[in-house]
Amino acid sequence: MYSVEESFAQGQGGIIEPLFPSTSQGYRDSDEMEAGLSYQIPTWCYSRIHNPTNFYLEETLSLLEAYGCSFDASAFCTSSGMAAIKQAVEPLLVLDEDPHGLNFVASAQIYGGTFQLFNVRLKERHARVRWVSQPWKLEEWEKLVDKQTRFLYTEMPSNPQQACSDLQALAKLAHSFQIPLIVDSTIATPALLRPLAHGADIVVQSLTKTIGSSGAAIGGAVIARHDLVSRHLPAESRGDYAVWLKLWPGRDSGACLSPYSAFFLLNDLRTLRIKVEWFSQNSMAVAGFLAGHARVEKVDYLGLPSHPLHDLASRYLRMVDSDRPTFGHLLSFTIKGSPADTRRFFDQLQRIFRATDLGRIKSVATIPAISTHLQQGDEGRRMAGIPPTMVRLCVGGEHADDIIQDLDQALSKI
Ligand SMILES: *Cc1c(COP(=O)(O)O)cnc(C)c1O
Repeated sequence: MYSVEESFAQGQGGIIEPLFPSTSQGYRDSDEMEAGLSYQIPTWCYSRIHNPTNFYLEETLSLLEAYGCSFDASAFCTSSGMAAIKQAVEPLLVLDEDPHGLNFVASAQIYGGTFQLFNVRLKERHARVRWVSQPWKLEEWEKLVDKQTRFLYTEMPSNPQQACSDLQALAKLAHSFQIPLIVDSTIATPALLRPLAHGADIVVQSLTKTIGSSGAAIGGAVIARHDLVSRHLPAESRGDYAVWLKLWPGRDSGACLSPYSAFFLLNDLRTLRIKVEWFSQNSMAVAGFLAGHARVEKVDYLGLPSHPLHDLASRYLRMVDSDRPTFGHLLSFTIKGSPADTRRFFDQLQRIFRATDLGRIKSVATIPAISTHLQQGDEGRRMAGIPPTMVRLCVGGEHADDIIQDLDQALSKI
């Protein structure tokens, strides 16, 4: 029999963290069982609540997100990125007696699934989303936030348009209303952006994407700073929000991460920094090529000085150990021509995968209007700035020349 501390040391000398698939822990006696299940002592009681492999991942993520901060953070891993977002926002939307109802203010330039969660699912639960169409403009946020606002939510950079916000200004605005700022930082990852260091209270990550770049597992995480700002949350949940989410609402909701997935994700996380730098260099080369191509109408890549948000992005997107702005692996471009021309180009790609996926070691492309952003309809896509001729490209770790050659041959066949 081992205590939790002793069992940490039970890696059998392995140089990577072990995988513990066990559903539950056995107890010495009834006293220990009662103490464990009421959280009086730390135990791996039941894998829906606590699991050692998931815990390794949670500890690593919280250290990465709070890097350089003067406070601590904790993480709660979930079955997917969408589960993380839902878990993060739900406790902030508890109904009260206020006859004016409640709202939250969110950037409209967000992942399609999040748009649906906010626009459909949370509306069904009486929480009204107020959309900000240009999240880099602080005035738009200021106009929408009021006494019934529970939180501000943005994605940076956004998928696929790469919208950015001035996180420091946004955090200040949120805190002046005593509400938290939540940032989906999936595209940047902590290798490029650490929102907590800029004043955000909660970060959500889809671990499925760049963090899990080999594409072997779906997962998500809520990473929250300790003592976050929220006048709506009771003190017992504000102190360590992520762990509170994990022990109470998460336990009742059941959207837990499989330890098998945690094992893969942790393995990918070890090489995150070098991959993000490498993908970013490749993306810069590919964006430069596309920007000079006659069949391309427009290229959106934050690394291009022509991008309207280049300066804002340069202030925030930095490799963790460098002052040099670095812009990540996500870019989009529009084809000069019709939606049918766009599909012709897309169908000709030989090396780049056609997949609604991103952050992979292999380059992947999609047409957002017929895939990730199909559900939200013409109006929703218009608001989010997604024309049917837009292609989203996530550049992977192949040689940049090989990606460019594939794009070039497909463009020539329109
Ligand atoms: C994919 C994605 C999500 C949702 O994550 P899943 O793991 O697919 O549930 C959320 N936000 C962003 C920015 C994403 O790209």
